[in-house]
Amino acid sequence: DTVPVTRALLSVSDKTGIVDLARSLAAAGVELVSTGGTAKAIRDAGLPVKDVSELTGFPEMMDGRVKTLHPTVHGGLLAVRDDPAHVAAMMEHAIGAIDLVVVNLYPFVKTMESGADADTVIENIDIGGPAMVRSAAKNHAWVAIVTDPADYAVVLDELSQGGGTTMTTRRRLAGKAYMHTAMYDGAIAGWFHRQSGETNQDMPDVVELRYGENPHQTARVLSSASWNLPAGLPQARQVQGKALSYNNYNDADAALELVAEFRDAGPTVVIVKHANPCGVATATTLADAYDAAFACDTVSAFGGIIALNRSIDAATARAITGIFTEVVVAPGADEEALAIFAAKKNLRLLLTDGLPDSMREGELHKEIVGGVLVQSRDNGRLTDDMLRVVTRRAPTERELADCRFAWTVAKHVKSNAIVYARDGSTAGIGAGQMNRLESARIAAWKAKDAADKAGWSEARTTGSAVASDAFFPFADGLMAAVEAGATAVIQPGGSIRDDEVIAAADAAGLAMVFTGMRHFRH
Ligand code: 5GP
Repeated sequence: DTVPVTRALLSVSDKTGIVDLARSLAAAGVELVSTGGTAKAIRDAGLPVKDVSELTGFPEMMDGRVKTLHPTVHGGLLAVRDDPAHVAAMMEHAIGAIDLVVVNLYPFVKTMESGADADTVIENIDIGGPAMVRSAAKNHAWVAIVTDPADYAVVLDELSQGGGTTMTTRRRLAGKAYMHTAMYDGAIAGWFHRQSGETNQDMPDVVELRYGENPHQTARVLSSASWNLPAGLPQARQVQGKALSYNNYNDADAALELVAEFRDAGPTVVIVKHANPCGVATATTLADAYDAAFACDTVSAFGGIIALNRSIDAATARAITGIFTEVVVAPGADEEALAIFAAKKNLRLLLTDGLPDSMREGELHKEIVGGVLVQSRDNGRLTDDMLRVVTRRAPTERELADCRFAWTVAKHVKSNAIVYARDGSTAGIGAGQMNRLESARIAAWKAKDAADKAGWSEARTTGSAVASDAFFPFADGLMAAVEAGATAVIQPGGSIRDDEVIAAADAAGLAMVFTGMRHFRH
């Protein structure tokens, strides 16, 4: 299933590497056919190239809107070479086969982002390019389609080795090609929606995902400019890395939602695994915040999803790339940081140009047997007037700051959630247990483990504040926190045994505040 390359059609907007490619192809005896600008670049390099218009007998016309849209081109791309009827049609209409297509499309996204006027943006919708890409990809049994300059070397390599492209490569390139045109059309659809200021959700952009939470589940992500939520993942610019999976979206959204709570705080970093934070910290620099968040749980952070509340600098990018990370999402990144990330090909980098409003309203849906559960977003936020000191000792200013921090994180941890925090950084996180005592114990145990691994003399839970997403039904969970060294507690209150819990807190010298608001998250 190796197909030799006799004729190649080159038509690219991004001309990176095209002359070198043309030179190598020509040296291998491949006949080159090309469109206006690409042909000129090749010819200027002193290489032989035939114009597409010579092939079709039509000039390129209408400002380049019609160049390659012709049966001579598409017949050459779509013909099944071992089908006698197809071969006869080629003979009858003097259509020559095309074995390799190298196309990248008009820079629609770049034009749109440059703030160009609508006419210019529309003129940058490529028509003939995607048509060739799709024709060639459909007929990948016979044709290789290259849409990414990064793949030029792969094709040349195969040509030099066995004289043709292999089926494995052609199939991979075909998949990549359809992803390329899908993303392209997705960007165009998004632009049209924004232009018309649609307020209904009838025309969402749809991106099919490889699979859902598990491989036997199907999945897609819907987005719409009309939902008017900039800074979300579907609207984000993916700078590098493979397409996002269902779990990537889910985890990155959890990270983004949590870091958005810190929109007005100092530099903050959130590391998420399986939709739960495993480290969150605010510090004076973003790199310090990353280090502190990472230190909370260096084991879980591997393969993590990281969200940051401001543009990433070089120091932070260097720290993040110190271990394997799945996804990084941030409002932006400077040039140096981008270069550092670029060295990590598998890292998915998403830039959102801002942070979502964590106080916004919205609806959450969950299917149940025979119906759908709907609830409004949990946009409850702690305000000073909600806090009620219930112990003899009131929290110090530092304890209160840690209480607030731990509380905000606990809101984003699956219940039962227990979060210890000290000095603006999580010290231990207990998530998703079926009773509160276990979450408190797990969080404390993890903090101790982190201290042992780092060689600290004591766990960071010593002198920490602890947040509980719902009331302590018994004093035992509270006592586990005391054992771990917590000196302050923040929780909703409201248990019929509140008196018992408060008495235990007083006996241990704790300062405890009630919020009157619960943050279950399931
Ligand atoms: P060139 O710089 O070679 O003149 O143009 C290359 C660009 O033209 C490529 O981005 C390719 O996708 C695009 N292209 C090729 N054929 C057609 C066509 O028939 N119509 C339109 N609108 N674009 C085309």
